[in-house]
Amino acid sequence: MSFTISADDPRSIRALEIAAEADHWLQWRTADEQSAFGVPSQSDPNHYYVVTAASCDCPDFRRNALEASPAQPRAAEPRACKHMLAVRLYCELVRAERMMRPRSITRPPSTASDPSAISHRPLS
Ligand SMILES: [Zn+2]
Repeated sequence: MSFTISADDPRSIRALEIAAEADHWLQWRTADEQSAFGVPSQSDPNHYYVVTAASCDCPDFRRNALEASPAQPRAAEPRACKHMLAVRLYCELVRAERMMRPRSITRPPSTASDPSAISHRPLS
């Protein structure tokens, strides 16, 4: 999945702004093991949209989804809204971080190079 961040596309700039606030998102797993996020609305911080990489319940996306589906149900995917772009961006960042340090979490504790681990002395 790729992103185009462009000053000509206000949506991508908004997506960056939203992704920068990812610390404040809610996150959970949907029934089909997708990541779903509660992303605060930019116009009303007390309102959270339910967003996944493929859907959003904001008015913008619902309008696009309605427009896209009737004529060409397969050809035209509904245009992603800024929340979905932000979620995709965030998921990519998380994945990139995991790929950059895959061993820092799973590495077993190393004792060989630790001097304090050699605590026993010869018997004589
Ligand atoms: Zn949205």
